Amino acid sequence: MKGRVQVFLFYDKPNRGSLNALCGAFERAGLGEIADLHLVREREELVARVLGVVDATTAAFAAPPPRGAAATPSTDQPPKLRPPPLGEARRGALSPTLVCISFATPQYWGIRDLLAALADRPAGTWLVAGGPHPTAMPEQTLAMGFDVVVTGAGEQAFVDLVREMADASPGPWAPAAVADAPAVPPGVPSRPDASPEPSPPRPMSSMRPMRPIRPIRPIPPPLPLPPSVAPSFGAVGPVEITRGCPFRCGYCQTPRIFPGPPQHRSIDDIASQLAEQRGHRLRDFRFITPNAFGYGAGPGKTNPAAVEALLSAAAEAVRGGRVFFGTFPSEVRPEAVLPEMLELVRRFAHNDNLTLGLQTGSERLLATIGRGHTVADVFRAVDLSSRAGFAMNVDVIFGMPDETEEDADETLRVMRELIGIGARIHAHSYVPLPGTPWWPRPPAPTPPRLDAALNHLIPTGRLFGHWQAQRKLAARILQDLAQS
Ligand code: SF4
Repeated sequence: MKGRVQVFLFYDKPNRGSLNALCGAFERAGLGEIADLHLVREREELVARVLGVVDATTAAFAAPPPRGAAATPSTDQPPKLRPPPLGEARRGALSPTLVCISFATPQYWGIRDLLAALADRPAGTWLVAGGPHPTAMPEQTLAMGFDVVVTGAGEQAFVDLVREMADASPGPWAPAAVADAPAVPPGVPSRPDASPEPSPPRPMSSMRPMRPIRPIRPIPPPLPLPPSVAPSFGAVGPVEITRGCPFRCGYCQTPRIFPGPPQHRSIDDIASQLAEQRGHRLRDFRFITPNAFGYGAGPGKTNPAAVEALLSAAAEAVRGGRVFFGTFPSEVRPEAVLPEMLELVRRFAHNDNLTLGLQTGSERLLATIGRGHTVADVFRAVDLSSRAGFAMNVDVIFGMPDETEEDADETLRVMRELIGIGARIHAHSYVPLPGTPWWPRPPAPTPPRLDAALNHLIPTGRLFGHWQAQRKLAARILQDLAQS
């Protein structure tokens, strides 16, 4: 007999931003009427619950308590495991069940092992994939054993999928055979029996026009973005202020996951999401955006009035909390670092450092990447930031395709100069990622002296990073996925 839809999200730390957005979409769409949402942090617990060793209908987060109501014991306590015999667990799901997993390519091996552990799932349990890796390689993701792949921004497809399951006729559910499913447009579940027509976009956000405090230039009209958090489910974290990037760096998946011009969330919506999180033991508040100083501006432009309006509203909304702007999980682009931006961060935010991408000291290679800035822009940004009292963490990437020994030497020289004016260097190795223009080009060989030069700087505290582990990761990705 069909029951409420049981939705399990594998609430893995690296993917919480995307999963929080799904929780926000669940709440905004009112899916609590037809479905129970379960956030599961540990893979062992996910396997145990999906295989039927926990009664899902009594598990944590079965439904958010009404606003203002005291939490019931079932929302405070983790579920108790009560393992039944395996045969009983496999007899069939009592309710249609979705297990949603978002992941990036570096997590591929862990997710592959998780799917193997879920192979004996009850009939009626669908495994749904989303995130950067499934978006880039939908067919390969289906071949891993998923039943549904959602590509691109997944919130609307997730809502449609839950509704579709709830509306299906009673009776045993079984995942459709999907191995031959064709590639699908962004946001559309790839099950072959799903409607070939994507649902028309539905507004999911109560966005209102921005109200700049001191309009200097016109602010582009905001477009609807779904909420990025859902505190009543415990899904708290950084608020996405801008989705998408107008630049097209050859190694980056972001513009391919969110094509089209950047969308800025309205200030009212951001402030309301920050305020909603205040009562959830959150003291520090952060943002998701490819360029914090590009908020409220057209592609490649800046709009200090919009940033001022945002930071002022954020400082008011978090009342007593701390706002961090231009640091992880976001950063700032070098050409957007202006004295007025630094002054705004000093006035309204709590960070004493910023994160910025140089990527390479070679002007030739910068142009090849399509970064849209020069080395001189980075020197100017670091100098301005140092004078304003901010430490600047500068990202560099070694081993990008086409990098020559001369390019690597030039990057080392530029790095040392930047350190001389106050920068800290975050050193990376190039990691090939599917879905990017450079995929599957291998990393360029790096000169043997590179590691010695980087290791020499570590004890000074002016350089850090996992470039050696990333070099191994790059080789593993190419070996296991380049032929898929
Ligand atoms: S600017 Fe940043 S987010 Fe945009 S394409 Fe380049 S690396 Fe990606």
